[in-house]
Amino acid sequence: MYDIQKIRADFPILGREVYGKPLVYFDNGATTQKPRCVVEAMSEEYYNVNANVHRGVHFLSTQATELHEGARETVRRFINARSTAEIIFTRGTTESINLVASCFGEAFMSEGDEVIVSEMEHHSNIVPWQLLAERKGIRLRVIPVTDAGELDMDALERLFSERTKIVSVTHVSNVLGTVNPVRRIIETAHAHNVPVMIDGAQSTPHFAVDVQELDADFYAFSGHKIYGPTGIGVLYGKEQWLDRMPPYMGGGEMIQSVSFESTTFNELPFKFEAGTPDYIAATGLARALDYVTALGMDQIFAHEQQLTRYAMEQLQTIDGMRIIGTATEHDAVVSFMLGDVHPLDVGTLLDRLGIAVRTGHHCAEPLMRSFGVPGTVRASFGLYNTTEEIDILVKGLRRVSQMF
Ligand code: PLP
Repeated sequence: MYDIQKIRADFPILGREVYGKPLVYFDNGATTQKPRCVVEAMSEEYYNVNANVHRGVHFLSTQATELHEGARETVRRFINARSTAEIIFTRGTTESINLVASCFGEAFMSEGDEVIVSEMEHHSNIVPWQLLAERKGIRLRVIPVTDAGELDMDALERLFSERTKIVSVTHVSNVLGTVNPVRRIIETAHAHNVPVMIDGAQSTPHFAVDVQELDADFYAFSGHKIYGPTGIGVLYGKEQWLDRMPPYMGGGEMIQSVSFESTTFNELPFKFEAGTPDYIAATGLARALDYVTALGMDQIFAHEQQLTRYAMEQLQTIDGMRIIGTATEHDAVVSFMLGDVHPLDVGTLLDRLGIAVRTGHHCAEPLMRSFGVPGTVRASFGLYNTTEEIDILVKGLRRVSQMF
C-alpha cells in the first residue's frame, strides 16, 4: 500500500510555502528532498559517535568504522554487487566517472583508442573522456539519438572497432527520461570484449538496479539524487577491472605502506579512497537506501510511472506544447517547450506559482543542439509527488501560455 500522504509527511520541506503558495517540487532530477530519518541518522552520528574511521583503536572510532562499513554493505545489497570490495565511495556520479576515465584510461588506453559514449550524455560523461583525449590522444565515438529520443542501436553496432576500449552510457537520460536498453548494450559490447560503464544517476532513484544481472563492469550513482545527502556517491566496479587499475588519488587510507623509495597500495575498495571519507554522508546514504527499500523500489517505480503517464497526457492538452523525448521506455522526467516562449521565462513564471522546475540545457548541450532547441523546461518526479501537483503545473502552464 503506497500511502502518499504518510510518505510526504516524512519530508518536512514539502510542507513549506513559496511566495505564499504550497511548494510543488518538480526538480528531483537535479536533487531530491531528504526524509527526516536521513537527516536524523547523520546528526545522531555527529552527536554521539563521531570519530575518524579505520584509524583508531578507541571505542568511537571502532563504532564509526562499523557504521561506515555497514553503509558500504547496504550499498552492496542495494545494487546486488558481489562484494563490498567492489563498492567505492566517491563524491558523486561525476567523480565516479572521472575516476574510471582517469584510471581505466591510464591502465588500458593509449593513443588512437576509442571510447563510445552517446549523444544524450550528461556533461559528466563527456568531459572526463575529453580530458583523457587531450592527455592520451584517445577518441570519442558517439551513438546518435533518434527523433523520439532513443539511442540508435544500429549505429552503435557500427561504432565498434578494434580500437574500442570501453563504452560509457547513461541508464536514463536526465533530459528526455529515456530508459536505455543497457542490458542489450552491455551484451553487444561484451561480444566485442569491451567493458561498459553505466551512469546510473537517474536510474537508481526510480527503479531497482541489479549490477550482476546487467553484467555492468562499472556503475555510478549519486547519494543526493536518491534522497540521501550531498557529497557522497558510489562507483561500483568489477574486481577484475579495479584490481588492474592504478589508484585515483594518493594520500591516507589508500596505502598499505609508504617509504620514500616505494609505496604499496591498500586492498579494494580502499585503494580508491584517499583521505578521510565522508563517513557521515555514507551513513545518510545508507539510511536513504533503507528508506526507499522499505517503500519498495517496485512500488516507487509504479507510482512514478503513473505520474509520468499522467503528466504526458495532461501536458499534451496545452496549446503549443512540444514534448522533447517520447521514447517508449520513459522514466520520471518530462522535458518540453511551450510554443516559442523561452524556457527561462516559463520557469520564472512557474516559480512565482510555487512550482520548482528546471530550465536550460540540463548539462547536455550536445543533446540540445541535436534537437535544435536552446534548452527545455524539465519537470522531474520523485516518490512523493502527486497527480494533484501535476494538475497545478498544467494550470500554471495554461496561464503562462495565455500570457504570451
Ligand atoms: N549523470 C546524469 C545523467 C545526471 O543527471 C547527473 C546530474 O544531474 C550527473 C551525471 C552528475 O551527477 P552529480 O552532479 O551528482 O555528480
